[in-house]
Amino acid sequence: MKIVIVGGGTGGTILGNHLARRLKPELKQGKASITLLSASERHMYQPGLLYVSIGRMMPDQLYREEASLLEPAIEFKVDPVEEFLLDQNKVKTKSGREVSYDILVIATGSRSAPETIPGLAENSVNCYTETDAVDMFRTVKNFSGGTVVIAVGLPHKCPMIPLEVTFVLHDYFQDRGILDKVKFQYTYPIGRLHSLAPLAEWTRGEFARLGIETETLFNMKEVDGANHIIHSEEGTQKPYDLLVAVPPHRGMEVIEKNKLGQNGWIPTDRHSLSMAGRDNVYVLGDTTNLPISKAGSTAHYEAEALAENLAALIKLGESVTQYDGKVFCFIEAGKDRATYAMFDYDHPPEPRAPNKAIHRFKMAYNQLYWASARGLL
Ligand SMILES: Cc1cc2nc3c(=O)[nH]c(=O)nc-3n(C[C@H](O)[C@H](O)[C@H](O)COP(=O)(O)OP(=O)(O)OC[C@H]3O[C@@H](n4cnc5c(N)ncnc54)[C@H](O)[C@@H]3O)c2cc1C
Repeated sequence: MKIVIVGGGTGGTILGNHLARRLKPELKQGKASITLLSASERHMYQPGLLYVSIGRMMPDQLYREEASLLEPAIEFKVDPVEEFLLDQNKVKTKSGREVSYDILVIATGSRSAPETIPGLAENSVNCYTETDAVDMFRTVKNFSGGTVVIAVGLPHKCPMIPLEVTFVLHDYFQDRGILDKVKFQYTYPIGRLHSLAPLAEWTRGEFARLGIETETLFNMKEVDGANHIIHSEEGTQKPYDLLVAVPPHRGMEVIEKNKLGQNGWIPTDRHSLSMAGRDNVYVLGDTTNLPISKAGSTAHYEAEALAENLAALIKLGESVTQYDGKVFCFIEAGKDRATYAMFDYDHPPEPRAPNKAIHRFKMAYNQLYWASARGLL
């Protein structure tokens, strides 16, 4: 049984490691193999980019060699897939190799796409790539006061970033002693302050306490950089001195090019994680079209459920579990306090008051992530 995983990020790495442990006898006897094809030899802990954007972490702290995270039985190649030949059960890589499979798992992640909104890329800052997070730090460090507008596009990676970036910037300007010169205006595209209703309510109280102004139903249309104004689809506009964006996201171009899903989102069964219309192709993490958070914890819980099922399919010919939509996200809430949101398909989050203990746990998790990627947590 030949299993090929495409994508060595959170989902692909955790899946590979769990599978390698569950299939130890089959791998030893040559009855199964696991190949992981990725686009980079390095693995980035992406949540750390939030701290890079305010100078509290250095970019090089966020990386590990992917090979060092993987069980030795996994064949790991840095050779990105360019063609998905699903009718022939094979993929073609950049180096020209054709890799056949019995089971394929696609976990290629997502990318921020500020270029889809005219003027946004050139006139705003964000923390979604290493380069963008470093640029954001340089910009906020030199900011001397004025109106900060936070503008959010959907869908985007990490559901908590709009809130977290607002809280950490509020802190950052307070620590620099310029908070009295800064006015925050938080906007959100739907009719409340967050897509998860209980969190929207929680945010209302927290933002009111900090004097952060808000506007809902604000969908970015274009940015007029010359006049420092962002226009919304709804016909409103906001002048800004600093525009902080959570850009809309897309799946990877290779998914779009191979027509596996519109905008790079692959139609996926919400419980089995199989790709629509394909029995031997599964999808993990950001690249699914599921209407749930595009988060590392989503990819993590999906990978655990899928590893259990694929191992059972190989050993028993039957699946044994279902992904239940579980997501767990920490939320940095400012002044070294944090809270968290845990939810699934049937249970909404119940946000609690933030405290310093949860913040400390989140900081510890920045290191514990590597144990989690190894499939040990
Ligand atoms: C600033 C920021 C803060 C975040 N904060 C949190 C948080 O607090 N909590 C949380 O749960 N999540 C958070 N996330 C989101 C989380 O990092 C992602 O949702 C998660 O990494 C998605 O996992 P994935 O496996 O789907 O994709 P990724 O981890 O992005 O991995 C995709 C992999 O696919 C590879 N790849 C791409 N194209 C190809 C190809 N053609 N062939 C082969 N391989 C390919 C890439 O090299 C990469 O290794 C945050 C993200 C950012 C950017």
